[in-house]
Amino acid sequence: MAGAFGLKGCQKIRGPQIRNLLATKDFILFDCDGVIWNGEKAITGAVAVVNSLIRRGKNVVFVTNNSTRPRENYVHKFCRLGFTDVMLEQIFSSSYCSALYLRDVVKVCGQVFVIGCDGLRRELQEAGIPCVEETDEPNATIFDCALAPDVKAVLVGHDDKMTFLKLAKASCYLRDPDCLFLATDTDPWHPLSSGRILPGSGSLTAALEVASGRKATVIGKPCRFMFECISSQFSGVDPAQCLMIGDRLQTDMLFGSNCGLDTVLTLTGVSQMEEAQEYSNSELTSDRSLVPDYVVDTIADFLLAFDELEEQSN
Ligand SMILES: [Mg+2]
Repeated sequence: MAGAFGLKGCQKIRGPQIRNLLATKDFILFDCDGVIWNGEKAITGAVAVVNSLIRRGKNVVFVTNNSTRPRENYVHKFCRLGFTDVMLEQIFSSSYCSALYLRDVVKVCGQVFVIGCDGLRRELQEAGIPCVEETDEPNATIFDCALAPDVKAVLVGHDDKMTFLKLAKASCYLRDPDCLFLATDTDPWHPLSSGRILPGSGSLTAALEVASGRKATVIGKPCRFMFECISSQFSGVDPAQCLMIGDRLQTDMLFGSNCGLDTVLTLTGVSQMEEAQEYSNSELTSDRSLVPDYVVDTIADFLLAFDELEEQSN
């Protein structure tokens, strides 16, 4: 495959090459955690990069598997970290896209049983989708708790208050073959700054897949649906003119590959060059889909490309 310059495939790129790549792209898709911020700290240079891209007329959107907060909270977080020009319409989270899927694709009629944080429930409620209220006594068990009669979907997202009772109830609802089984994403875990990790939605979904004997339909990356959401809300989205920038091979790079987008791996998050090269050297075709087209050490490397543009225009 020939890229904007030379051959693609795990290529480290710098200023002039980044500039050439950006010249061929109208839509820049950013993952958030590990790319533009880590937790509550913006990655050095990320604010300048995002603002410069927007100022240069690029369409910038954010594509995140994090389902814990509604989009308004994202706008606040962007603002708090210095990304002051980011608007609600630019944010595509797995919770927002789950709500769109339930409302517009499957047109769910009935309640949704949610395993997830309040942010996920809020996003569904804003789309007019009723969620089962949690009304159990603290010591209720699956033997004596109430089950809602009209549950038409079970949706699993990140849930830091996951309980055995929630898992048991969801398993019961999924006995009904007409009850849909959805997952916001299948991220296995997330890094914490302390060096510890947080189990992700994928670990909870896996538990429910085993208990129910069913496979979840996945909304978030690496599945294509989030790209379809972007295409339906912006006109003229051409995969050939989109660039996906992320930090995780199994979600961001595979998402880009699944949607026909060029991909850039940034090394400030989960995946590192060695892992990318292992996939690159693999003989399995499925592994090749995880290989980034291009690699940068940090998103701040884009600033060098802008500097050159400025020099040229002076
Ligand atoms: Mg990430």
